[in-house]
Amino acid sequence: MMTEQNEKDLICILCPLGCKMTVSGCADKPEALVIRGQQCKKGREYAFEEYTNPTRTLTSTVVIHNAPLARLPVKTSRALPKHIIFQAMEEINRVELTAPVKMGSVVIKNLLETDIDVIASRSMG
Ligand code: SF4
Repeated sequence: MMTEQNEKDLICILCPLGCKMTVSGCADKPEALVIRGQQCKKGREYAFEEYTNPTRTLTSTVVIHNAPLARLPVKTSRALPKHIIFQAMEEINRVELTAPVKMGSVVIKNLLETDIDVIASRSMG
């Protein structure tokens, strides 16, 4: 069976040194990935995660009624897998709230069955 070889350049964002790293290998054989350029173990772990399961904390806004602003800032409680971010945005775009809302309130529970919530980033009365 043929396996696809890939190479990806990354910059480590875990400390101000910003090491330039290269990850190469087969996506279906993560244990055999070759990671170069990192100056510490944390950078290696970051590159591995970024290559095999990239995630991002999602920040957005939702409609809020009866409030001084038309939209309330929200964010995910943890980083989401990158491949479901567009689906997650569709869910967030359906939300409409009514003030008052407290910072940290859960706006969407268990977003897309990820066990990650969307929470209010600020209070709005
Ligand atoms: S690899 Fe280590 S030293 Fe380099 S930027 Fe990342 S955390 Fe900093």
